[in-house]
Amino acid sequence: MEIKVARSAGFCWGVKRAVNMAVETLKESKNTRCLGELIHNKREIERLKKLGMSFIEGMDELKEGDTVIIRSHGVSPKVIKKLKEKGTHIVDATCPFVKDVHEKAMKLEREGYPVLILGNPDHPEVIGIAGHIKEPMIASTIEEVEALPKMTKLGVVCQTTLNLNFFKEAIALLSSKVKELKVYNTICSATSIRQKEAKELAGKVDVMLIIGGKNSSNTTKLYQISKSVNPRSYHIESKEEIKEEWFRGARSIGITAGASTPKWVIDEVVSHLSTLFKGGELSGRGVCQTAGREL
Ligand code: SF4
Repeated sequence: MEIKVARSAGFCWGVKRAVNMAVETLKESKNTRCLGELIHNKREIERLKKLGMSFIEGMDELKEGDTVIIRSHGVSPKVIKKLKEKGTHIVDATCPFVKDVHEKAMKLEREGYPVLILGNPDHPEVIGIAGHIKEPMIASTIEEVEALPKMTKLGVVCQTTLNLNFFKEAIALLSSKVKELKVYNTICSATSIRQKEAKELAGKVDVMLIIGGKNSSNTTKLYQISKSVNPRSYHIESKEEIKEEWFRGARSIGITAGASTPKWVIDEVVSHLSTLFKGGELSGRGVCQTAGREL
């Protein structure tokens, strides 16, 4: 059995930065709270809880002097204002690439473009972007883009983890219904690289495993892309979910992971597979344990 791990699998730069900022902050302040889950990965959240971090959904329970981490997804200016009014110490771990989307959306609005955000309206990043503009429109499906009225002007930004194919399809459609269209492709390169690698690797191996939180938007997209190329694709959060029957007759396994999946979780899966196929009893073809990162 050959095991191939995509080169960019796991934490992206922005998530790594946010986790490091959180860990450093915890060393200085025991009363550190994170607004929402720092990252969409249950197991990493558990690790951070053990280090002393608490996670809160609303701001009501915050007290003056509390330290609050803003996660990489960012928040709206209203949230920042409220945190300041409460007298909290803010550690802003918003990814600079997400901040760039805020800037671009505001620029479009200043230039007089109604602003459309392509992305999931329930995702914290999209909620944060929308909070920077007065009357945001949001579309997450082609049907929603189709339903938009004909317009003379429109500015577009997108969720950094948007599916590239959806973005292309949406922009092609909008070009036919908007006279003056100004588009910023704000898909993060960390996302597009992972999506490209997932597609390529899924086409080369017998079985694909996509590791990451079931609530992680970018992991789910990697899974959808992989599944469209290779029906034997499985989205797992940890090694415990792996089923031996997935690999019947397979000779190769491809692995990728979302931008919020820590390296230690990927390593656990690779090590579990290497043990599982020791002796090659499932494939009957012996073992080739190439758990290195190659693509
Ligand atoms: S995917 Fe890109 S934009 Fe999002 S946190 Fe990572 S580096 Fe930042």
